[in-house]
Amino acid sequence: MADIIETEVAVLGGGPGGYTAAFRAADLGKQVVIIERNPSIGGVCLHWGCIPSKHLLHAAEVIQEARAAESSGIRFGEPQIDIEKLRASKDRVVSTLAKGAEGLAKARKVRVITGEGKFLGSRTLQLSTGDQVRFEYCIIAAGSRSIELPMIPRDDPRVWDSTDALELKNIPKHLVILGGGIIGLEMAEVYHALGSKITVVEMTDQIIPAADADLVKPLMKEMKARYEGIYLGTKVTEVKPLKRALKVMLEGGKAPEYLEADALLVSVGRRANGDLLDLERAGLEHDRQGVITVDDFLRTDVKHIFAVGDVTGAPMLAHRAAYQGRVAAEVIAGLPSSYAPMTIPSVAYTHPEVAWMGLTEKEAKQQGIACTKGTVPWQASGRALSAGKQNGVTKVLFDKKTGRVIGAGIAGYQAGELL
Ligand code: FAD
Repeated sequence: MADIIETEVAVLGGGPGGYTAAFRAADLGKQVVIIERNPSIGGVCLHWGCIPSKHLLHAAEVIQEARAAESSGIRFGEPQIDIEKLRASKDRVVSTLAKGAEGLAKARKVRVITGEGKFLGSRTLQLSTGDQVRFEYCIIAAGSRSIELPMIPRDDPRVWDSTDALELKNIPKHLVILGGGIIGLEMAEVYHALGSKITVVEMTDQIIPAADADLVKPLMKEMKARYEGIYLGTKVTEVKPLKRALKVMLEGGKAPEYLEADALLVSVGRRANGDLLDLERAGLEHDRQGVITVDDFLRTDVKHIFAVGDVTGAPMLAHRAAYQGRVAAEVIAGLPSSYAPMTIPSVAYTHPEVAWMGLTEKEAKQQGIACTKGTVPWQASGRALSAGKQNGVTKVLFDKKTGRVIGAGIAGYQAGELL
């Protein structure tokens, strides 16, 4: 028999946006239900994103640091990598945190229902279990998914998205990475440290296109030394699955006609999941990227339905999703809360890291804001030099008229922490 579950707040999706919203709403006295299609809450960030990638990046950093120590006279020898053990330790971290999140839900009496939810009307969700959830308020936190490209076969096990890459099934001899954004470059770090040759193919003329060109220079310098190839301004036009390898056909830039890859990671961005929720039945819309529009209070066009996190578009970051979740819960509880961040920091956990916040120079120019810039190359920093980390730069942007800081960026060792 299908049940009808009544609740004050229904949260659709149990990622950082959803569980933060649910926990905050419960703490503020609301009765809350989370609907999550996966067996465990935590979302992309915990299961297939931030946490597993940062665990593997930590392993990669240990390997790189051990190698770098050689120039100071300390030699460790080549690392012995037990891929099974590395995978198991990553899975252990994920499951520990997932249990923690479940515990936090239980402690707050937040009910977690496993099932896929779609709108049946503006007050009702239909679940894949057959049950229905009727709500006073709904917070949509359904996240995003990897973009797939039509000319790339998805049924060949050698074609990966970021989730496949994080599974660490094997270490390909030659990994071609399509997309020079944060996710692709972080995976490049991991697989390079584990022994793969890496080639990066990026359509625009810069890696990490969202960041300023001067900020990605220190990373580009190290990537050029480490990787097989980096092809900017280059498109993949076709992928031919041959028996011995994937033949990746290229067009543009200084790229060869094709590359032969043992695996191809497609990391060309993510699209919001708004198109999978039957929004029109609730009187809502999404744009072509699946994005749901919200106001400063995270309200959609239907005033008792809110949306938070990746499903509301860029920047698709876990800390943004969590903060939005908190604000949505507070607005529902009647608190004077709104989403108006002065800055949302972004970090690429590459080697060296690239981190920025506030406006970039590109954005200041687009917005017609005249700015001045203060830049410190790390060659001038005794602390950086003594650690052998002089490949870095710190810059701060100031509004020319007022002198006010409008943005900052750091590239270098542990730039994310510094920022
Ligand atoms: P999600 O985490 O995507 O959660 C949405 C949840 O909703 C999922 O659990 C999904 O199963 C569920 N769901 C969707 N539709 C339905 C439905 N119809 N019914 C029921 N459940 C549904 N961000 C950072 O800030 N720092 C990082 O270092 C970082 N690293 C990343 C590395 C990788 C490889 C990836 C892919 C992403 C990374 N991100 C990082 C981005 C971060 O993971 C996302 O911004 C964050 O997870 C968004 O949270 P969310 O709650 O909006 O959505």
